[in-house]
Amino acid sequence: MDGSAGRLRAGSGGVLLTGPAAQPTGSLSPQAQAGRSPVLDAAQLEVLRRYGTEHDTGAGQVLFADGDLTYDLFVILAGEVRIVERLGQPGETVIASYGRSQFLGEIGLLTGQRAYLSAVAATAGRVLRVPVAQVRVVMAQEPGLSELILRTFLLRHSILTGRGSGLTLIGSRFDAGTRRLLEVLARNRLASRWLELEGSPEAEAMLRELAVPVADLPIVVVPGGALLRNPGSRELLDALGLSGPGDTELPGVCDLLVVGAGPGGLAAAVYGASEGMATVLAEDTALGGQAGTSSRIENLLGFPAGLSGEELATRAALQAQKFGVRIKQAARAVSLSSQAGLHRVGFDDGDAVTAKSVIIATGARYNRLPLARLAEFEGVGVYYAATQMEAQACHDDPVAIVGGGNSAGQAAMFLSRSSASVHVIIRGQTLETSMSRYLIDQIERNPRITVTPRTQVTALLGTDQLEGVELLETDRRQTSALAVRGLFVFIGAQPATGWLAGQLAEDARGFLLTGSNIPEAQLDDAGRTPLFLETSRPGIFAVGDVRSGSVKRAATAIGEGSMAVRLVFERLQATGSAVADPPRADTDSRDAAVPTAKEPPP
Ligand SMILES: Cc1cc2nc3c(=O)[nH]c(=O)nc-3n(C[C@H](O)[C@H](O)[C@H](O)COP(=O)(O)OP(=O)(O)OC[C@H]3O[C@@H](n4cnc5c(N)ncnc54)[C@H](O)[C@@H]3O)c2cc1C
Repeated sequence: MDGSAGRLRAGSGGVLLTGPAAQPTGSLSPQAQAGRSPVLDAAQLEVLRRYGTEHDTGAGQVLFADGDLTYDLFVILAGEVRIVERLGQPGETVIASYGRSQFLGEIGLLTGQRAYLSAVAATAGRVLRVPVAQVRVVMAQEPGLSELILRTFLLRHSILTGRGSGLTLIGSRFDAGTRRLLEVLARNRLASRWLELEGSPEAEAMLRELAVPVADLPIVVVPGGALLRNPGSRELLDALGLSGPGDTELPGVCDLLVVGAGPGGLAAAVYGASEGMATVLAEDTALGGQAGTSSRIENLLGFPAGLSGEELATRAALQAQKFGVRIKQAARAVSLSSQAGLHRVGFDDGDAVTAKSVIIATGARYNRLPLARLAEFEGVGVYYAATQMEAQACHDDPVAIVGGGNSAGQAAMFLSRSSASVHVIIRGQTLETSMSRYLIDQIERNPRITVTPRTQVTALLGTDQLEGVELLETDRRQTSALAVRGLFVFIGAQPATGWLAGQLAEDARGFLLTGSNIPEAQLDDAGRTPLFLETSRPGIFAVGDVRSGSVKRAATAIGEGSMAVRLVFERLQATGSAVADPPRADTDSRDAAVPTAKEPPP
């Protein structure tokens, strides 16, 4: 592939479309069918015409191909265009067909991911081509259309994820590298399929074809692009065009560095950039944080039907891009130092970012069960998230969930849609003390979910794959075996503060202290009055789950992230290094609602 962004190209004629007819459409519900292939009305077409140009197309012409760095939005004005997987290769398959007034693309078009499918004109026709830069303008300025495009792209992405389109991972389930990559793929919600080395003739055939020795596994095959041998997260995201700016493209000194891109960090970055701050957002694993691993967040204000973590993360990331946030992905902060009012955060890839202010939003990392053989099954039977990817891995087999909190409850509801039976294992007597009432009610009404109280998981069973778990009924000291394909663990989390090496004041459990909760003796500069959300070092703030005493919820993290920006301005003004006017004048009565630990400095 030549990597040209969606250039109109001539294909190789009849060879292109020899794959089987578009089958997957048949297995979709009518609702999903309609959702994935909306037909634009005349008014919507008219709007898009303002952003693009019309072109004639010939039969067999390639509009974009897998491996292209980016691709444009194509709206079909006449004729038919097919979406093809593995174009021109063995196993070439037509996976969808679009006609008049329908548009092509999925969410990767907006996130900047390389194309992993190809679009080929099946007949002569005409298309409206909207350059990707203009699509971003449409997304920012045309609310009705942007909502339709976003929803369609998200639905298509979810369908493609379900059918295992996109990347191919080949590796052994017994290999730590394979399990690490499975987690990177899942957390980043990358459409992919895993060909397990053991017992997969397809994996063997592909390795032969690619001349890759087993010693080089795991490998990732990027459609139309590179073959990656045991890549790190950064290398993988780089190959997909998703890792963001490198060191040399970052501003010398930015106004605001946000570390961690969960809901708290994303909110801080969006608000910071929208208020005119040069903002960098750095994320270690995947945009969306813990919330990104949730199948459905039901208590977020304004979303009565709930919102998937994927949708929240995608929407927030698009918003961040819209306001010019520089997003640096696969970047784990490993060090912090401060001098003369500037803060320098070092990353595991050797990069460093210097900033006038820092918002720490590194959240928390899930707890693991103290079980033998845990590492052997993590990512291939033991999971810490319940999204479509994990559900797909468990097929419709029984699964067990450990934990009695809301995340466990949501996972139970989500998995009950695909699994024959879902066992919720809790140590306590009842869910009442740990789970919200609305979830308990849903679980009680669901015939596929069983709650097993006063019980612990004591062993993982299975040879090649997870086949079950051993349970200990704590009252009767009796053990039993439960056959399950997947074990989902939701037993709380530890703050991700190790990288700070104890430089900022923490509570006994390692969460960052802020505002008036910081003992005077632990302040970096005695006599300073820390602002609400400000840590023991001036100009460094903490929001969301990483903060001591915060309510561990998505909405709280979002609220704190937004509020912190106001406090960042306040601190920058106090130190004389303000970059722009603060959001809202000090006379704004709404500011009275912003709690400060003590009176702000004069
Ligand atoms: C399965 C599940 C379901 C949930 N459902 C709900 C719900 O329905 N409603 C609700 O309100 N809450 C829910 N929660 C809780 C909610 O997701 C969290 O409260 C929220 O995500 C916290 O946001 P945060 O931004 O503070 O941190 P996090 O979401 O934890 O994000 C922190 C981010 O920082 C990154 N990071 C960590 N260390 C570093 C480092 N050194 N360098 C760079 N980046 C780093 C992490 O990779 C992560 O992406 C759920 C949680 C889970 C796990």
